[in-house]
Amino acid sequence: MDLGLRDRVALVTAASKGLGRASAEALAAEGARVVVCARGAEALEEAAAGIRAAGGEVTAVPVDVTRPEAPAQLVRTAVDTYGRLDVVVANAGGPPPGRALDLTDEAVEAAVQANLLTSIRLVREAVPHLRQQSWGRVCLITSVTVRQPARDLAASNTARTGLWAWAKTAANDLFDEGITVNLACPGIHDTDRVRQLGHAAGRMGDPADFGKVVAFLCSEPAKFVSGIAMGVDGATVAGLL
Ligand code: NAP
Repeated sequence: MDLGLRDRVALVTAASKGLGRASAEALAAEGARVVVCARGAEALEEAAAGIRAAGGEVTAVPVDVTRPEAPAQLVRTAVDTYGRLDVVVANAGGPPPGRALDLTDEAVEAAVQANLLTSIRLVREAVPHLRQQSWGRVCLITSVTVRQPARDLAASNTARTGLWAWAKTAANDLFDEGITVNLACPGIHDTDRVRQLGHAAGRMGDPADFGKVVAFLCSEPAKFVSGIAMGVDGATVAGLL
């Protein structure tokens, strides 16, 4: 299947490891030119080198995506380097664990900053460029917890459901302009974060497969797929919705 991504330009944030990196690799494998960021320059360069070695085109920007000025900087880099922007995959590190009644104001604010506001800023900065070509794909990496909150990840549950509500609204606003907005909602995948949280057990998703699901959501044939929260969770959600 041709995903229609050849020569498109994609910005993927928090992409030196794990699910962000896999998404950047999948988009690059489909012929998209990618801009990636992460805080740690060494791992980021290693990820970029891997994409180049596989024949892809990539620009790496070492930056903390949660800094208020970072989204504008990243969008500008994409447009200055490649002349356009077509795809935004918004990702950031997940909040630390914590039960609902133990959350401090600071913990809630940090999660909202990283996992809600940062994504909104990225989309807001990108949309004028997507509008120019009446074509755009926005994919927000969130979590299975938008459907099934995890008891020990209360900050994550809180920020991500806010982003889901915002994305649903934005999807409706943007659809007639050829721009789709979707969530990709991972269940447990085999990444550093999962190992750090001590959640690595049983059958886990392969980040490379997750990246391909993201690439599909950002593809040409997914033009009528918008406003959805696509679960990639190995049937772990117990409810029907
Ligand atoms: P990971 O393996 O820990 O990778 C996180 C990546 O994001 C790294 O490249 C990291 O690089 C980068 N990053 C973190 N904070 C950043 C920041 N402020 N600015 C720029 N880059 C940043 O994590 P992951 O498992 O892929 O998870 C990705 C997202 O999916 C997280 O929000 C996580 O909570 C969510 N999620 C993951 C799973 C899972 O099973 N893996 C399940 C549900 C939800 P630097 O540290 O160098 O910046």
